[in-house]
Amino acid sequence: MKYISTRGKTAPMDFSDVLLMGLAPDGGLMLPEYYPLVDSETLDEWRTLSYPQLALAVMQRFATDIPYVDLKDMVERTYTADVFGSAEITPVRQLEDNLYILGLSNGPTLAFKDVAMQFLGNAFEYVLKQKEARITIIGATSGDTGSAAEYALRGKENIEVFMLSPHGKMSEFQRAQMYSLTDDNIHNIAIDGMFDDCQDIVKALQQDAEFKAAYDLGTVNSINWGRILAQIVYYFKAYFAVTNSNDEKVSFSVPSGNFGNVCAGHIAREMGLPIGRLIVATNENDVLNDFFNQGAYQPRPTDKTYVTSSPSMDISKASNFERFVYLLLEKDSARVHELFEGVKSGQGFDLSDVLDAVNTRYGFAAGKSTHADRLHTIKFLYEQYDELVDPHTADGIKVAKELQQDGEVIICAETALPVKFAETIVEAIGPIDIVRPPHTEGLETLEQHVTVLDNDAKLVAEQIRQYVKPNLT
Ligand SMILES: *Cc1c(COP(=O)(O)O)cnc(C)c1O
Repeated sequence: MKYISTRGKTAPMDFSDVLLMGLAPDGGLMLPEYYPLVDSETLDEWRTLSYPQLALAVMQRFATDIPYVDLKDMVERTYTADVFGSAEITPVRQLEDNLYILGLSNGPTLAFKDVAMQFLGNAFEYVLKQKEARITIIGATSGDTGSAAEYALRGKENIEVFMLSPHGKMSEFQRAQMYSLTDDNIHNIAIDGMFDDCQDIVKALQQDAEFKAAYDLGTVNSINWGRILAQIVYYFKAYFAVTNSNDEKVSFSVPSGNFGNVCAGHIAREMGLPIGRLIVATNENDVLNDFFNQGAYQPRPTDKTYVTSSPSMDISKASNFERFVYLLLEKDSARVHELFEGVKSGQGFDLSDVLDAVNTRYGFAAGKSTHADRLHTIKFLYEQYDELVDPHTADGIKVAKELQQDGEVIICAETALPVKFAETIVEAIGPIDIVRPPHTEGLETLEQHVTVLDNDAKLVAEQIRQYVKPNLT
């Protein structure tokens, strides 16, 4: 299996090379040359597999340059009951007739990003060892991504992590999660500024070609192919959990921001998993809702990107969306290049002429949920079913219930646990004790390690120089 860029100007590459990449050199996103088909007989075989066995079966079709035994070892070390709270890894529970919740948030940082990031940590370490290379990860986070990356990469060989966060802007729980880590290779940097300032610093350093080469800079952001790949697995797992035969169809509702999670569902569907509809749920930052309903895509300027109570979906543009558009436009990479170069400078595009294919051929639907909607949904589920969900998951359930058709089975992705967003839970239902997993007991009382810096890329570069030796040129 070779990997190519959506922009068509990057030579085909192997999985191991793509794994360590951010954007392709031509500015596009990397993806496999084709999505391998899985027939009904194979689905039957996969139905009874354990999570790590299923992960191996799926990933083996994409990571063809990694020896079977090594990939097996990697997924077995990643997907354990110890790390994810149960042998099921991503357990499904029933909410109502035809409505289920897929628990994706039982990993170390209580958000779905752990499922992919934990794999990525092991895969990075493996590939770097094979290549006798190292990597210096720099990232910007407003919460979930940074902690998931740090918990996945802590203590890993040949990897240093510098994670920038806006000083004083994350929740107490999120700060405690990141700053309490004591591993030598994890460096927390709080920037006197906003999330966008952190992101600008990361961009500035990444674009300094000399600095990048000297320190082997890399990223683990949401466009990483390894993350998408790892997420495909739980769509299969969830489908098997609620069906008895491959004749049944199941839909998924996915709280979406950068289109990473639901993109994995889209690929599972392309591989032949009998998925009915892929329901994209957005918050007030509704660029995807507009596209999937009207066919027009218009990225938001920064001053129109709202800060909401489902903050992990507060995006101005959906960075993985290009992977779907590439397929939708029948792999016309010149057209994709033109459209997304426009997006880079704030322009939108209109594909309403193919909206029918988006909905029928590819199964996409979308809806939107607001602050009032998520408060109402959290309260309703709590009072009706004694079921507590986080604000992002609430967005997905709200949209699922709104769009559900007669007899349609929908699985709603639980993308974080409520304890991470206690403030909004309390706003919705009043003061209550929110259950937290044992490993997070007393988290906020641990000593915190963070370096506070002025909003200046040079100061961050200095920090990196202090801990990482430059390559000799
Ligand atoms: C990252 C995140 C999302 C959005 O996922 P995408 O892959 O960016 O669409 C939704 N909910 C939570 C809790 C997240 O952390």
